[in-house]
Amino acid sequence: MKQLFVLFLFFLLPEIVFSQFSTNYTHIPRIDVHTHVPDNNQNISLFFDLRDHMLAEHQIDLSMWVDVTGRKDINSFQSVNRGRMLTCLSDFSPHRGMAFTPEEIVAKHKMGYGGFKIFYGPYERVLEEREEGFRYIDDAAHEPVFEAMEKTGLPGASVHVADPNGPFGNRGNWAKDPVEFWRQILSLERVLHRHPDLVIVAAHGAWLMVQNAQIDFLRYLLSEYPNFHIDLAATFQYFDLVDHANLRDFMIEYSDRILFGTDIGRFDESLISERAARYSRAFQILETDQIVEGSFFQMNPIQGLNLPEDVLEKIYYKNALKIYPGLKEMMNSLGYEMD
Ligand SMILES: [Zn+2]
Repeated sequence: MKQLFVLFLFFLLPEIVFSQFSTNYTHIPRIDVHTHVPDNNQNISLFFDLRDHMLAEHQIDLSMWVDVTGRKDINSFQSVNRGRMLTCLSDFSPHRGMAFTPEEIVAKHKMGYGGFKIFYGPYERVLEEREEGFRYIDDAAHEPVFEAMEKTGLPGASVHVADPNGPFGNRGNWAKDPVEFWRQILSLERVLHRHPDLVIVAAHGAWLMVQNAQIDFLRYLLSEYPNFHIDLAATFQYFDLVDHANLRDFMIEYSDRILFGTDIGRFDESLISERAARYSRAFQILETDQIVEGSFFQMNPIQGLNLPEDVLEKIYYKNALKIYPGLKEMMNSLGYEMD
């Protein structure tokens, strides 16, 4: 009897840890718009092995990745990425001055870069205390770059300005100071206000998805600024911090402005099935009403959102095709026939 029980557990355990999710939406392609493909072309084939694994084990068509690593050599990247990766410029310390001039922004856009990732490291990440002269994203010195992006049509890709400021009792390890958090968020709003034609995809839901009142502010930003969008990278593990009905309502109402993303980075061959399980949990949270044990990152149970099919289509690929230059052509080249 005891042996039988152990045997039973043995079969049950992998089910709990890596639940085998098969999608009902096998026909919907998925584009991950927030990825850090290592700046080493030798490892790129692992992403295609991961895609194969997703198709075979989960019937999920993970079609493309938007890479925000900020690689310098776009030509060698394009020769090995099988037409499945769009790459972006990147700047990880703009508080010391932007990495590109307006002229470079225009030239890189012509070369085929699909966006400009601006990681506006909140000062807590880089400094003990905020220094005199520390630049926020709305600093006047950044204006010529935003003007160039606005004019040439290069979107801000997974722009990151703040870290999560969670609810009372669960602030998280990141932004503990609500005043500084809102200073960062409002500096982003000023950029949106000054540049109505600038297309921005904010990373991680602009970190305005971990308190119910923050979601209201996100509703305001999305209503006020029609070229503002968000990606969902690394937000799934916080869905239990907000009201389920509120979050679901928000995702449906603003489904034209929300994009799927994960923040996936480096992994080795031994982790392919584990990364596939992470992806499938993120999709399961969006597609089903099941309680999903874990998300793309942490392992706390999350109640699925059971989003309608047309909402999923927009979040998974349709919105991305409208935003990133060159993406639609790449999908067509892969045989998807997007119009
Ligand atoms: Zn990221």
